[in-house]
Amino acid sequence: MFIEPYHHQHQLNGKKAGWIEVVCGSMFSGKTEELIRRLNRARIAKQKVEIFKPSIDTRYHDEDIVSHNASSIRSTPIHSSEIMLSLAGDCDVVGVDEAQFFDNGIVEVVNTLAFNGKRVIVAGLDMDFQGIPFGPMPALMAIAEYITKVHAVCMVCGDVANYSYRKTAAQEQVMLGETDSYEARCRKCFHS
Ligand SMILES: [Zn+2]
Repeated sequence: MFIEPYHHQHQLNGKKAGWIEVVCGSMFSGKTEELIRRLNRARIAKQKVEIFKPSIDTRYHDEDIVSHNASSIRSTPIHSSEIMLSLAGDCDVVGVDEAQFFDNGIVEVVNTLAFNGKRVIVAGLDMDFQGIPFGPMPALMAIAEYITKVHAVCMVCGDVANYSYRKTAAQEQVMLGETDSYEARCRKCFHS
């Protein structure tokens, strides 16, 4: 389990320095649950939390991050990562779900938020259904202080799974609302 770092002694230009955490993994790996766990714990400690997701992801409810186990948390759907800078305001913690769907500008945005003293927690798919690094996720992982890769269970052999295998022939990278079309697979079963 990820243990939150003690960072508050760090100063940057005379103010508290923030940092970036990335939670990544395949589908069914529990990355959104892990994001929600961290955000809820911050909220219990009376820290001000803002949560964003790309407005492209409307699988469940528009205003909620909803993970597959139905624990949910209110979030703001946005079209462009830049909007986070104006909406994050005076909050202490910024959560981002489904970060793989954002534009590459998100890298600069989360850097700016961290420089401004915020703890930024970014969750997303690290690979698409072809096993290719997904959107801005590789760059986000490179600039983050902390990375947690969570795993699913291979639905074929029960081994540790890090791939999202698509069971249909569709070729587009983004196929929303179709979790039934995927299964988590290990390296061996993904490539066979
Ligand atoms: Zn397997």
